Amino acid sequence: MLALATTAGAQTFDEYFEDNTLRLDYVLGGDSSAQYIQLCQLYKQPRWAGRRNRLAETYLLGNAQINVFDSESGRLIYVHTFSTLFQEWLNETEATQMKRAFEASYNIPFPKRPIDIRVTLTNNHNKICAMLTHHVDPSDILIRPIGDNGIPYKYIEKNGDVSECVDIAIVAEGYTATEMDKFYKDCQRAADAIFSHEPFKSMRNRFNVVAVGAVSNESGPSEPGKGIWHDTVLRSHYDTFYSDRYLTTSAVHKLFDLLSGVPFEHIIVLINTPRYGGGGIYNQWMCSSSDHATFKQVLVHEFGHSYAGLADEYNYGDNHVEWYPADTEPWEPNITTLKDFDKKWKDLIPPGTPIPTTTNNNQQTSRPANTQQGGTREDLNKKTQRVGVFEGAGYMARGAYRPAELCRMNVNEVEDFCPVCTRAIIGITDFYTGTVRTK
Ligand SMILES: [Zn+2]
Repeated sequence: MLALATTAGAQTFDEYFEDNTLRLDYVLGGDSSAQYIQLCQLYKQPRWAGRRNRLAETYLLGNAQINVFDSESGRLIYVHTFSTLFQEWLNETEATQMKRAFEASYNIPFPKRPIDIRVTLTNNHNKICAMLTHHVDPSDILIRPIGDNGIPYKYIEKNGDVSECVDIAIVAEGYTATEMDKFYKDCQRAADAIFSHEPFKSMRNRFNVVAVGAVSNESGPSEPGKGIWHDTVLRSHYDTFYSDRYLTTSAVHKLFDLLSGVPFEHIIVLINTPRYGGGGIYNQWMCSSSDHATFKQVLVHEFGHSYAGLADEYNYGDNHVEWYPADTEPWEPNITTLKDFDKKWKDLIPPGTPIPTTTNNNQQTSRPANTQQGGTREDLNKKTQRVGVFEGAGYMARGAYRPAELCRMNVNEVEDFCPVCTRAIIGITDFYTGTVRTK
């Protein structure tokens, strides 16, 4: 049964915030030994599309956090958590050899009175490794007002006011002016892909989807591995971190500029290409190629990352990288190191299930995810729905565990999210929309 949250949260929102957005642009930089955060620019944008309840709650820790304090009282009044491409790069060998900088932009509700903002990056031990604190006076004349930027947009799904629904913006990348009809059709396919999967299907009326028709000068993303560079609005490219299928954009400030006329919370960058690729980062963006045969599966998988903070449930076999150290329980809801498993999905495991749980065929699933998984639809479904604690997850063959043998966060051949991922998606949607669930 669903019921709207009490008005207490809404009163708190009105006490500290107005119905506008404060956009924060930063640069994150450094190398594997030291990281820094620097403030670039502040913007004011009309309307606030984010949550209006549970404002000071850290629902998922993410790899980075923004804590907003009322300057006068010192009270914590808003929390935003996210992950960054920069922190992924810190795991690359290159990060031991040079310093690099990455753009980052975040929206918070526009304050009525002065605030202090604390931005933190945390490492894979959940320890703070970089911090910036800065003061913001809402009357500061250097906060640039932005709004309608002339870029057309169309609602693909409109199920309620931006204050009530989760607002997803799909931004065109690599579509020329003559390809805009294709873009809007691709957006409809993207929305249909997401809402054809549970639990999104049952919650469709809690989402808005808006398509933003940003025009590129040239068609398709850049493909550095083939020597192809295109002049596109977000400069997306394959070969991110030299991984051929890793298709991303680093132009995050520009991405937020493109969205200045649209209230939004979550971003899908839809990239006009038939080649396999994509990526998703919790509360930053997800990128998806538009025309690959696995478009639907990849889009929903990457949206699981960017929307619900879900981890990859596959592993890289014996190429062992310690993404999730044994002394730390990961913040992602669908993997565990068993350090603090009681906080995870213990309540969903049938009595008598051994921990760790052995798979029926005693096989690990490992990347590449587009390799064929055998079995009928019924077999796959059983492997998706049987909850246990299966070793091999989060890129690690040993020491990290997933909730089901197979899941949408594991292999492309499986349609469904496992019960743990399903619960996580429902939980974060309730968090964003201020929905209280009673049994
Ligand atoms: Zn799962």
